[in-house]
Amino acid sequence: MERLEQIGRLLPRPIQQSLRYIYGALPPAIRYGKVFWETYKFLQESQWWSREKLEEYQMQQLSKLLHHAYENVPYYRKVFDERGLKPKDIQDFDDLKKLPYLTKDDFKTHFNELVAQNINLKNLPMSHTSGTSGKPLQFYTSPSIGQMELAFIFHQWSRVGYKPDDLRVEIRGQIKEEKNRVEFDPASKVLRLSPRIDNKEVAQYYLERIREFKANFIHGYPSAIAFFAHAIKKYGLAVPFQLKAVLFASEAVYDWEREIVNEIFNCRVFSHYGMAEQVALAAECEGSSYYHCLPQYGITEVDPETNEIIGTGFLNYINPFIRYRTTDVASGILPHCKHCVREYYPVFKKLEGRIGDYLVTPRGLVGPAVITHPFKDLKTIKDTQVVQKSIDCVILRVVPWEKNNLSTYKTEVACLSRSLQNILGDELRIEVEEVDKIKRTKSGKFKWIISDVSMGMLEMGLK
Ligand SMILES: [Zn+2]
Repeated sequence: MERLEQIGRLLPRPIQQSLRYIYGALPPAIRYGKVFWETYKFLQESQWWSREKLEEYQMQQLSKLLHHAYENVPYYRKVFDERGLKPKDIQDFDDLKKLPYLTKDDFKTHFNELVAQNINLKNLPMSHTSGTSGKPLQFYTSPSIGQMELAFIFHQWSRVGYKPDDLRVEIRGQIKEEKNRVEFDPASKVLRLSPRIDNKEVAQYYLERIREFKANFIHGYPSAIAFFAHAIKKYGLAVPFQLKAVLFASEAVYDWEREIVNEIFNCRVFSHYGMAEQVALAAECEGSSYYHCLPQYGITEVDPETNEIIGTGFLNYINPFIRYRTTDVASGILPHCKHCVREYYPVFKKLEGRIGDYLVTPRGLVGPAVITHPFKDLKTIKDTQVVQKSIDCVILRVVPWEKNNLSTYKTEVACLSRSLQNILGDELRIEVEEVDKIKRTKSGKFKWIISDVSMGMLEMGLK
C-alpha cells in the first residue's frame, strides 16, 4: 500500500483524488497494510498479558533498541562509551537509569549524531512537533512507523467499540477546503470539519452533515469539540444522532471540556495522550478515565519530583528517543488500574499539560487544572486565554459571544478576573484584554495558557 500512496503523490490532483477513492474501497485487510495488522493483532492479544510477561517483552525490545543505538547512532555510542557501559549492562529498569536523559535541546543540538547510520534516509518523511514556542523539533519517521502508530491508536479506541473500518468525523485544525468547511477523505473515510463555528447556521449544518454521514465517533482536539458542543448548547440545537464515543486527542483535557461534550452528545468521552516523538502513549480504559500507558509502545518513567513523563520509544529506529524528557506533566500516578484487568503501567489520573502551561507566581507554579475552575459555565464569553509575559503580570484575554447584553458580559468578565486574582495571589497584576478571536497554533491547536516565564525556566533547566 505504501507504493500505491507513493505513486499517488506524483500524480495530478484529480487523479490523486480518484486513487484515494480506489484506496478507500479496498478491503481493510489490504488497505491498512501488513505492519498495521500484525501490530493490531499483537496488541489485542497482549493487552491481557501478565505484568511479568509484559515486562519481559519490554526488556527484549529495550535490549534490541539499545544494541541498535550503540552500533548505529553516534550520539548513543558516545553516551555508552563515556560511562564505560555496553548495551548488555542494561538488564532491567534500574539499569536503564544509568543512561542520561535526552532533552528537546539535546535533540536539536545533536540532531545529526542522533540519526541511525545504517538506514537509507532517501524518501523517508520527516515528522515534527507542533510546539507553540521555539522551533519545532524535527525527526525522521517511516511509513511502517505510521502503520504501527495507527494500530496502537485503534487498539486504544477498541475499548469504546471502535473497529478499524469505522467511519469517523474529525474536528482538529484548519482544513484545506475552508470555504466549504467540510472535507471528506475517501482514503481514510474521515469527514473533516473546520473548527471555525461562527454562527448558528454553521453549527446546524455540521449536525446535519454528521447525521447524514452516519459516523459513530467524533475525534479531535478537546478544545475544538468542546467549542462545537458549547455552540450547540448556546443556540439551543438538537443533536440528531447518537454517537458511541467522542475521542479526544492531542491536548490536555480540562474537566469542563469533558463535561460539556458529555452533556451535549450524551456519550462516553474517551481521551488518549501521545506525542509526535512517539515515546509514550496512554489512554483511558472501559471503566475509568485514568490514562494507562502502553508497555508495548515503550518504557514510560515519571520524574518523582516533577511528575514529568520520560519515555523510551520502541517504534522509531531511525531517530531513537531514549529516556526522552517530554516536558508533559502527569498527576495522580498509580501503580495499576483497579477498573480493568489490564496490567498496563504506569497509570495516571490526569495529564496536567506541558510545563510551559504553568503560570509562575511568587507563591509558586500554578497548573491549568487549578486555574480552570472559574472558567466553567461562562455565559457571555466565547473564548479565553491566559498569557503570562512577566513574573508580575498576567493577561486575561476574552472573546465575547455578542455584546447585546453588555452589563452581564461586564459583570462576568469582572468576576472571572477577580477569581483568577484569588487563585494567583495579589502580588500579580491581572490585565483584561478583549479580542475578536484567539489565535491557534500553526496546526490549529489551542493553547489556553501561555507562559513565557515558565518556558524560560524550562529552557534554563527547570527540574
Ligand atoms: Zn483500567
